[in-house]
Amino acid sequence: MKKLIFNLKVSLILFLCLGIALTGGLIMQQYRSKSRLAVAAGENLISLRQRYAQAGSVTDSSGELLAWSENGIRHYHQNSNLAKAVLHTVGDYTQRIDNTIETRYQPVLLGTDRNFFHQFWLDVQGKGLGGDDVVLTLDSKISLRAAELLANRRGAVVVINYKTGEIIASTSTPSVDPQSVIDYENIPDTGLFNRALRGSYAPGSVFKLITALAWLQSDDYDPEYHVDCHGESTIDSDYANENGDGHGLVYLEDAISRSCNVFFGELGVKVGREALLNTAAGLGIGEGYNVDRLTGISSFIECEEDDLQLSWLAIGQPTGNSQLSMSPIELARFAGAIANQGVLMESHIIDHFTDPTGREYRKLKPTEERRLLNERTAANIEEMMIKAVKEGTGSGAGFDQYTIAGKTGTVQVVGQANNALFIGYIIDEDNPLAIAVIVEEGGSGGGTAAPLAGEILRYAVNSKSN
Ligand SMILES: [Zn+2]
Repeated sequence: MKKLIFNLKVSLILFLCLGIALTGGLIMQQYRSKSRLAVAAGENLISLRQRYAQAGSVTDSSGELLAWSENGIRHYHQNSNLAKAVLHTVGDYTQRIDNTIETRYQPVLLGTDRNFFHQFWLDVQGKGLGGDDVVLTLDSKISLRAAELLANRRGAVVVINYKTGEIIASTSTPSVDPQSVIDYENIPDTGLFNRALRGSYAPGSVFKLITALAWLQSDDYDPEYHVDCHGESTIDSDYANENGDGHGLVYLEDAISRSCNVFFGELGVKVGREALLNTAAGLGIGEGYNVDRLTGISSFIECEEDDLQLSWLAIGQPTGNSQLSMSPIELARFAGAIANQGVLMESHIIDHFTDPTGREYRKLKPTEERRLLNERTAANIEEMMIKAVKEGTGSGAGFDQYTIAGKTGTVQVVGQANNALFIGYIIDEDNPLAIAVIVEEGGSGGGTAAPLAGEILRYAVNSKSN
């Protein structure tokens, strides 16, 4: 009895503490949203505008001005389509979109993060009022091309340099002109949401690469393992089926290039929940990450000990209580790590800053983040991805004389058409580019995503050589 009362007391105290913490949290939240509302209400719009009157500029890697202040007014790129294509990265001075260069680098742009001596030194030269310039790794032309190709569909494209970790392009649609954001009008539904950095998508068949990786790294790995595919899963007769009579005898390499659901559904169960989740964790799935001061959304993976869930998870499609999501930028990072012999580079979007005297500082230094897979496994996966583009489902992504490695994905989403995905990269010393493309409701078999990726990579290669 005494014990029971003691337990009751303990839980009561715990409960009280929880209550106080919750109330405290709520008050904080309310306070925060109140001050945010005040900004949004427009009473601070004028003061925000004034604050940016002498702010530094934001330029892309080719010196294209994306945001700058002149005669006390903040300007954004005059080509409205280009301004839209980089909106979610650059942002605007009203800061209605969080997680942008304009918001996260405000202290740099306004020069408020300078130490006393540096500020004094600039003041002496009569240059103390201006902010510092921010130079990005982005090539805005490629973001523009990606946005043009996405056209009126919802989606995202990320292009990275897999040797340096630089973000070369990042675009999210729908988007809107910065002036509409400032006026807060004519904003399309989800138009301010940065899908490239913050979108959570089930990766679909792209995830088969991770299932393959779990298998390659498994102690039970057997290169002779194969499945006789009749287009029908032996684990779940209702879902993961393919059209037609299936792929026949399928080994790992063909299973990737032809994206065989039956093979990977069965392999997922064979590899097992623990190995699959451990492999995903080893790749950083489930962790958050940053691109300089911009915050990416954390990926997520969870699955019960259940063959049906596991077989679905193995083909990248969460069902029941299992969960699986990755962001476009994370998918591009994964592709880039395979391309870079297994080594993931730190992702960066800031190339350097320039102070009002023209002095450059904090120049980007490419840094290895960590090794995601060993060199041999990376080469193994790469071979399968090359085949997928040469003769498999990703064939739309190939172009000119370049060797492209890639993997398509199709994801069923409740209440809408399938999402189409593609991740891949160019195998070329001079063009070390990896890409992730997501087209919401883009159709099956990678649908529109693979050819779109091919177009963007071709454009990126050509625009560089010109
Ligand atoms: Zn099959």
